[in-house]
Amino acid sequence: MNTIEMDRTYIAGTYKRFPVEIVSGQGSLVRDVNGKEYIDMGSGIAVTSFGIADPEWIRAVEEQIHSVQHMSNLYYTAPCAKLAKLLCEKTGMSRVFFSNSGAEANECAVKAARKWAAEQKGPDCATIVTLENSFHGRTLTTLAATGQAHYHELYQPLTPGFASFRAGDMEALRHLCEGGGVAAVLIECIQGEGGVLPLDPAFAKELADFLRKEDILLMVDEVQTGNGRTGSMYAYMQYGLHPDVVSTAKGLAGGLPMGATLLGARVKDVFSYGDHGSTFGGNPVAAAAALSVVNRLTDDFLLDVQRKGRLLREQLEGAEGIESVSGLGLMLGLKTVRPAGEVVADCMKNGVLCLTAKDRVRLLPALNIPDELLLRAAAVIRQACGM
Ligand code: PLP
Repeated sequence: MNTIEMDRTYIAGTYKRFPVEIVSGQGSLVRDVNGKEYIDMGSGIAVTSFGIADPEWIRAVEEQIHSVQHMSNLYYTAPCAKLAKLLCEKTGMSRVFFSNSGAEANECAVKAARKWAAEQKGPDCATIVTLENSFHGRTLTTLAATGQAHYHELYQPLTPGFASFRAGDMEALRHLCEGGGVAAVLIECIQGEGGVLPLDPAFAKELADFLRKEDILLMVDEVQTGNGRTGSMYAYMQYGLHPDVVSTAKGLAGGLPMGATLLGARVKDVFSYGDHGSTFGGNPVAAAAALSVVNRLTDDFLLDVQRKGRLLREQLEGAEGIESVSGLGLMLGLKTVRPAGEVVADCMKNGVLCLTAKDRVRLLPALNIPDELLLRAAAVIRQACGM
């Protein structure tokens, strides 16, 4: 059996994979089992922040593997402590809980909000409100948070205590909050899986002002938008928001599983011993990898992510077959005349790996992708869109 046959026989059939087996890579170039090279415009869905086999990332991981690859959270280890300090310094948040994925980071956010609200306002204040068309993960709780009914259908009953409203509809939110049962609102600044749809900044501000006035927590899901992806450390910074809780994962550790839930001043002491935990959370190798990523997200580097984002956008905006370009930094969505799936298939044939998000082509290249590769990829994408 080759890899594809083995995978199709033995792995649960949850992923509709492209018929390509990737075996190696360097930076933003990857190679398949037949030696064909591709420009990687998806970076493992916003994970390999500095590309494949990045030398600095490898050095950090190797060094840590040779000292200690895992200790239980019953003991102190330096990498996760240093990473938590760095994340707090870069955001103004107060404490961090580490986990292994975006869904877990959001689970922790929900637990933090529920405990905070129960202590501050009583046990009836437990509802978490999210936006329609959002995506927050695949566990039963984060599916309940995800404001897209089709994800819910097969898995009832989901965790109770969630409601969604349409972005921009403040009236609907006010209605949900009547009676004081809402603990927190969880938003993505750009809905990634929902189609690379940025929130209207005026709505984001109105929402934040309303929540502050009502003493309801603002929680921002930065799983996909975070860690430099949009040209700032976190996308909420470009929206001028001051969230109480931030969840992140994906690009944080540049290719190793790591989630983080950042707790702001109001909730920093919400958890006590035993309230939450994770065997692998804050694993020293994942934390060392994340340190090598986050330490490089300097102001100058982030300005360069913005510049690359503009460069890519300029190459695509107005091109034949592209109706519009959405997103921020190096998180872009293309509304195409041809079905997005067909565009992505043609790009792959011509050596460029892209993603879809709903009806859009989604581009999430490594943050350090060389300009020359961006331009080459853009030419292939333009050609596929214009066919
Ligand atoms: N939140 C957002 C905004 C996401 O885009 C995703 C994954 O795509 C998740 C949460 C879930 O992350 P994970 O797949 O790491 O559990």
